[in-house]
Order: sequence, then C-alpha cells, then structure tokens
Amino acid sequence: SRPGRMAGIADRRARVVVFPLPFQGHISPMLQLAGALHARGLDVTVLHTAFNAPDPARHPAFSFVAVPDVIPANVPSNGIAKILALNAVMEASGHVRDALASLLEEDEERPRLACLFIDSTLTAAQKAAAGLGLPTLVLHTGSAACFRLFRSYDMLQDKGYLPATESNLHLPIKELPPLQVRDLFDPSKLPNKEIGQKILNLATETTTNSSGAIINTFEDLESHELEMIRFELGSNGIPAFAVGPLHKLSSTYSGETSLLNEDRTCIEWLNTQAPYSVLYVSFGSVVHVTQEEFMEIAWGLANCGKPFLWVLRLGLIAGVEKTELPEGFESAVQGRGMVIEWAPQQEVLAHSAVGGFWTHSGWNSTLESVHEGVPMLSRPLFGDQLPNGRYVQDTWKIGFLLEGVLERGMIGRAITRLTEESEGAMVRERAKDLKEKAQLCLKSNGSSQMAVDKLVDHILSL
Ligand code: UDP
Repeated sequence: SRPGRMAGIADRRARVVVFPLPFQGHISPMLQLAGALHARGLDVTVLHTAFNAPDPARHPAFSFVAVPDVIPANVPSNGIAKILALNAVMEASGHVRDALASLLEEDEERPRLACLFIDSTLTAAQKAAAGLGLPTLVLHTGSAACFRLFRSYDMLQDKGYLPATESNLHLPIKELPPLQVRDLFDPSKLPNKEIGQKILNLATETTTNSSGAIINTFEDLESHELEMIRFELGSNGIPAFAVGPLHKLSSTYSGETSLLNEDRTCIEWLNTQAPYSVLYVSFGSVVHVTQEEFMEIAWGLANCGKPFLWVLRLGLIAGVEKTELPEGFESAVQGRGMVIEWAPQQEVLAHSAVGGFWTHSGWNSTLESVHEGVPMLSRPLFGDQLPNGRYVQDTWKIGFLLEGVLERGMIGRAITRLTEESEGAMVRERAKDLKEKAQLCLKSNGSSQMAVDKLVDHILSL
C-alpha cells in the first residue's frame, strides 16, 4: 500500500477507470459494476470506443473519455474478429496508453487513480496500463462455469474431448460436470481456427496478469465453480469476487445501459395479460437465425396458442436487413402476440404477466431471468451460451434445452412442456426458489454486497 492509506476515512476515496468491450452484453455489466462502486464513494471514469459509445447524458455520475478506434472497414462489426482487431488497433496506436497517461496526470486535487477495470478480452488495454504502473482488475461478464471452462481448453484437448467428433458429442466431461462435449465452443470448427484459439486465450491471459477477477454471478448459484476458481487463482494471489447479478447490485444507480431504443408499449400490452401467461422471446443483441429458422419460430409461436412477446431485432435474420413477418402470421395470432424491435427486457421479465422466457442463453439474459424467477426455454447458439443452457437445464433445473433443428411443431411442444405440464411445474417451482436466493445475495449483508465491500477495500489497497 501507499503511505497514508491507513490515515482514516478521508483516504477512503479513489478513482477507477472502466473500459468495457463495446458490445451490449459487456457494456451493461461494466457500467452496472461502475455504478455500485460509485455508490460506495469511488469516482468513475469510463473509457470507450466511438463504436457503440454509451451516451454520457444517461450516466451523469461518471466522466467519459473517448478512445479513437479505427477498425478496418472489412472487419465485421459483431463477433470475435472485431475483438482481435480492436486489440491490435489499440496496441498499435497507443491511444489507450495516452488516455490513461493523461488521467494519471490529472489535477492533484482529485482522488488518486487506483486501477483500471477491463473486459476480460481487452489485453491491449491491460498492457497499456501495465506500462504505466496501473493495476488492472478484470470483469468476466460470463458465468463462473464459463470462466473455468475457458481456462480448461488445454486439458480438454489433452484428454481428447476436443476436437469434437460425431461420436463423442454426448460424452460427459467428467472434470466439468454437467457439461458434455456438445456444449463446448470448439475453435477447430471455426473457419479460422487460430482466431478461436486466440479468443479463448485472452480471458486467461488478462486474468493471470491482473490484480483480481470480478465475476457476474453469485455464491449460491455457482458455489462449486467459485470454489474451484479460487483454488486455481489462489496460488497466484489473485482474488475472485462474485458480485452478481450486476444489474441489480446498486439500487441508487439507475443508469440506463441499453444501446437501442426500448419499445415501452409492450409494458402496456403486458398489463392487459393474465398473470404468468406470456412467453417472452428474445435472442439478445448479437446472434442471428437463418430465414428457415425464422419461419419456424414465427409459426411455432403463432400456432402454440399462448400469448407471446417476441423481440425481432433488426438484423436478427442473417443477411436480411428488413424483416417481414410471414404472410398470414398476424391473422393467425389475432392479437395474442406482440412483436417489437427491442424490449425493456429487465422490466419485461419482472412483469407479473410473464411466465416463461425463450432465450439464446446469453449470460445477462440468463441472470436477469434467474433474478425474476422466470423459467427458460434455452436455445443456445454460440460460445458461452451453450454451457449456460446446459446449466439451466441440468444443474439449476430451471428450464429446458431446445435442441435439434428448429421446427414449428417441436417449438409448440416445448412451450407446452415449460408452461403447462407437471415437469414444467417443477421447473417453475425451482425458478422461484432460485429467485429468492438471487434476491438474498443482494441484501446489505448478502454475499454479493459483501463482495463489493471487499472489492472496494481491495481497490483502496492497490
Ligand atoms: N436486451 C434488451 N432488450 C431486448 C433484448 C435484450 O434490453 O429486447 C438486453 C438484455 O436485457 C441483456 C442484453 O440485452 O442485458 C443481452 O445480453 P446477453 O448477455 O443476454 O446476450 P448478448 O446480447 O450478449 O448475446
């Protein structure tokens, strides 16, 4: 520690810089974490790229510094190539280094800059900070299980689980229950294997070089996984803090983190629906479905007989700019369903009319659903969504996986299973139990709040 740290309350102030990866599922948890730190008296500066920049007017408590990012136009704006390109550009340009250097030089009167929080993929920002002697803390926006999984790829390859083959897809990974080979993101299946492998290594590298790992989960949800992580990181003296669900951590911080405009008319519509009757359907901010899958989803919903609220994000269908609902869809639905472009999702999940969530099992969506006790139909498509879906079905038993080729009849049966049948009743009951646990960890003496207290002490000790 620096001299003067123990001098008393007046010293319990510091500044932190946070640098999220510029995607919705990463910006929100980082700003939410920043909100919780701010609520405990820390000053917060947000570093951000021009791409997907947050709106400073919606976060008056924070200062903002833009880092120029010039990503070559041929890099797709979604996905992992963008992450690697961002790191390369940041490293070559020195822009992050310059931004951090000027923050470190700021007015002596301001609380001292204690550390940089980075998204686990932003190795270039970590290198820039290290060059200036500024410690980094790494935010993992996925589950603890996923954190462990991504660190286990050498083992998975050594033991022959990967590369996956037709015959081993259903093989349980006994080192990482309840995962099976088919739940793994397999870098060798990507068109560019090296990119996949590099992406997997980023989070491990930033964690190893950090002064702490922050994970958006809570003790009662993933106690075993957290215990294993602490065991693995402990020998390097790296503490791990489970501070989730981040979207509910700070009640005084009500910053809006959505990048798209939320269509609030759906709340009025939900107000007219019976309790637990509506299926909410959304696949997050990034993934795509094919035109064929889209048709099956549309007719599965139209035919299922249940009220539904469907987020049909612009760009959801791969290669299609303007989405058209199939002919006859509206008359088949007859007001029983609502289709919107972007929802105030947390509010939707908290609404008493919502009884189930068909999700792509992104981690933020999963935690938001857990927090509201909404059971899930999981249709994971990519990356950490696959293990998330497996945990939802097999570990927490708060939902079912929707597997295989999407087909309207199968979709209807899955919806009935979740919302009506006795198996579904057990799942709904367990979702309610887990909701209680999620709410307990957020109380002032709950595990996540205490973890933030410890995190603040840790920041002040850096
Ligand atoms: N979200 C939203 N409105 C929508 C759909 C999604 O606000 O209509 C939010 C959702 O609440 C979540 C985030 O977008 O916080 C999606 O993150 P997640 O990790 O679930 O998936 P990703 O978009 O990263 O695949």
